[in-house]
Formats: sequence, C-alpha cells, structure tokens
Amino acid sequence: MMDGKFLDNDIEKIVDADRAHVWHHLTQHKPFETGEPRIILEGKDMRVWDQKGKEYVDAVSGGVWTVNVGYGRERIANAVRDQLVKLPYFAGSAGSIPGALFSEKLISKMPGLTRVYYTNSGSEANEKAFKMVRQIAHKRYGGKKHKILYRDRDYHGTTIATLSAGGQDERSAQYGPYVPGFVRVPHCLEYRAQWDLSGEEYGIAAANAIEEVILAEGPDTVGALCLEPITAGGGVIVPPEGYWPRVQEICEKYDILLHIDEVVCGVGRTGTWFGYQHYGVKPDFVTMAKGVASGYAAIACCVTSERVFELFKDDASDPLNYFRDISTFGGCTAGPAAALENMAIIEEENLLDNCNAMGAYMLDQLHALKDKHAVIGDVRGKGLFLGAELVADRSSKEPVDEKQAQAVVGDCGAQGVIIGVTNRSIPGFNNTLCYSPALIATKDDIDQIIEATDKALTKVFG
Ligand code: PLP
Repeated sequence: MMDGKFLDNDIEKIVDADRAHVWHHLTQHKPFETGEPRIILEGKDMRVWDQKGKEYVDAVSGGVWTVNVGYGRERIANAVRDQLVKLPYFAGSAGSIPGALFSEKLISKMPGLTRVYYTNSGSEANEKAFKMVRQIAHKRYGGKKHKILYRDRDYHGTTIATLSAGGQDERSAQYGPYVPGFVRVPHCLEYRAQWDLSGEEYGIAAANAIEEVILAEGPDTVGALCLEPITAGGGVIVPPEGYWPRVQEICEKYDILLHIDEVVCGVGRTGTWFGYQHYGVKPDFVTMAKGVASGYAAIACCVTSERVFELFKDDASDPLNYFRDISTFGGCTAGPAAALENMAIIEEENLLDNCNAMGAYMLDQLHALKDKHAVIGDVRGKGLFLGAELVADRSSKEPVDEKQAQAVVGDCGAQGVIIGVTNRSIPGFNNTLCYSPALIATKDDIDQIIEATDKALTKVFG
C-alpha cells in the first residue's frame, strides 16, 4: 500500500513541475499538453503506485529490466547511506572499500575474468570496452585491427559510438554521421529465418555468417565482436543451439576479442549470474549495468580478462601505455555499496533458483496464451526475461500494426499491469511484448500478468 503521505495539492504541484520542466526519456511530449505524464511515487516488492494512487504489478522491473531484487529494499538503502556518510566519493586513481569488495565478489561469479573497471551507464561501459579494443589495435597491430563487429537487432547504448554499434536503425536515425570502424553482422533469430535450416544447424549457419563478414573485411582489420548474450530490445532473441560455441571458435580462429554485453542479462535476469554462462562461452570483455545494483544506485562495469589487462601494463616506460580513461562518477562509492547488498540478497534469497522456476512457469503460461491467441506467433526467453512476438498472420509472419501492440500494453496498464513492447527501431518488428518481472516474482504475480495480457489480447484482437 502507498503510505498516503502525499496530499492532492502536493501531487498537482509535482505533476505541474514535471510537465513544465522535465524532458522524459524516449517520449513524444505533445500528448502532455492535454494529458498528464505518469509519475511513479512509490514501490514495494513487485508493485508501484502512480500519482493517482493506482497500483501496478511491474512486469518490466522499472521499465527497462533493472530492478532485479524488487522495490523497498531497506538493506540496500541502509548500506548506501552508511557508505555515503563514511565516504561518498573519491575520483581518479584511488580505490575505495566497496569498490574493492564488490569487484572481488563479482569476479568470484565470473571464472576466467579478473578486472573490473567502474563506470556509470551501460553505454559508457560499452564505450570503455570499445576504447580498450582500439588501444590494443594501436599498441599491437599498428592501428589496423581496430574494427568492431556488432549484430543486427542488438543495442549497446545511446552515445554516438554505441549507436554506431547499434543494430536498431530507429535508434540511430538522424544522429549521424556515425563513428567509422563498426561493421554489422546478421541477427540469429530463427523465427525470422534467413537460412532454410533449423535448430543447431541454424545456429551454426548464423555464426558462420559472422565469419563471412570477417573474411570480407579482412581478419587482420577486425579487433572485436560485440554481442548481447540474448538480445533484449531487438526482440528477446535466444540464440539457437550451436550458435555460441561456433562464435567462440570463430573468435579464436581469427584472434578476435569477444565482448559480451550483459547490460540487460547480467546479474541474474536469465537464471544464471550472466547470460553467457548458459552457453559455456569464454569472453574477453563483459559489460553490465542495469541489474548490478537493481537501480538503487548508478553503477556499470566493464570486466576484462587478465590477458586484456596485461596488455595495458606490459611496457611501463611508454607514457601512452595505460588505459587513459576516466569516468568521474566511476568514483562514486554508492554504486558498489549497493551492488554488494544486491548480490547478497540474490544469494541469500536463492533468487537465481526462483528466477529459473518462475521463468519456466511463465514460459509455459505464455505458450498457453499462444495456443489461445493466433496473434502470438512466437514465444521465447530464458529465466525471467521473456517475449511474445505478435503477428497479423502466422503463416506470412506479417507483424501486427505498431498501434495494436501499443494498445495491448496500454490495456494491460489500465488493468494495473505494466508490460513492455520492443521499441520501434526495427521496421515491422516493433511487436514483441516484453516481460521481465523482478527475480522475486511469485506464481500469483505471474498469473496476474498473464491474465492481464490474455484480456488485453482479446480486447485488441478479438
Ligand atoms: N546494452 C544493452 C543491451 C541495453 O539494453 C542498454 C540499454 O537499454 C544499454 C546497453 C545501454 O545502457 P544505458 O542506458 O545504461 O546506457
């Protein structure tokens, strides 16, 4: 229950201030000239309350796959408070207590990796990895092996460089010119097949398509391959069997560094600590952000292998031979303090187990919805990271109209359940309903989410 300390008068003032001065993310503001922006006042566990006192089940963990341990975690707030009183911040080359302790804890979950570089957003963490790749290219290959491959439908962030590595065209449209040296490889979504194969054979073919790009570009020009382990905003794409092992082989064959973007999948979302751990892959870089501290503080990390780290200290007499990079707010101690508690909660409450159990239950429920509603063409996901792709026609796989997909989301909202839909970035593919409830979700929560979706699909599509 909302604690009711807000008076109607206060709320009106808050809404007016927001409408007058806040520029919301990813938002066309015209409707606010007459309507009201939604303002979320409070949250507890899986639920949030808006300015009208309306309660919602949050099936998207804060909108964008972030609040993995749910709302109202006093122990995280207390840990952050205690740390801020002791030392809020110190920048540059100095370390901190929570920075050291969280890096040790994180590395204990990531065999094969050893170093944590702190930053404050997923985009920035990815940029750090890109810069490391570029610097390695200059140090070792005279600048030649500098290209970074990225995949159609993947997203790595909102800065100009990360948009240049973005596989979702609507996100990058009108923000060019882009940064050179980023090259696109095909996506691996079997439902939208590009090869007449299935299962493992499809996965191997999709990975081989990466090799073709490498050969066309010249392997001596390609420094790294950057992929999401399971694509998020591009449509919740779980790679087919055979894909990841072949990707790893290709990287090894051509001496290409493997960068896995775990900004969404990281820290439990898919039922393992990291998405790549489902596939036995050995990355050189892993970037993460959203679930690291479940949104209780801004923190992101670029984690590397010792092999990468060693390259930046092998010749200490060269004044350029270190990673000449800083992130001002990478020096905030609130982030690692919150992240330590966040990880302790996941361990103590066995939330990975819950994620696997509830994820399997929810996947079954989505399949049952697919049996009932012809508009669901495909259901996919791992752990509590799930999607249902909506199609106007199952045989042609023609996507539903974007407005219809939005109407389903809107109707769920009216029923008190917040779900998501993939963004408009891929023409014709803005049609995958997204579900990522907190890792604490119960069967009752999931039943409520599924029931709302069921009713909304009936309302919009009959
Ligand atoms: N990488 C992936 C896979 C993402 O989904 C996102 C954001 O949604 C980012 C990177 C960028 O993270 P941030 O918004 O923290 O910069």
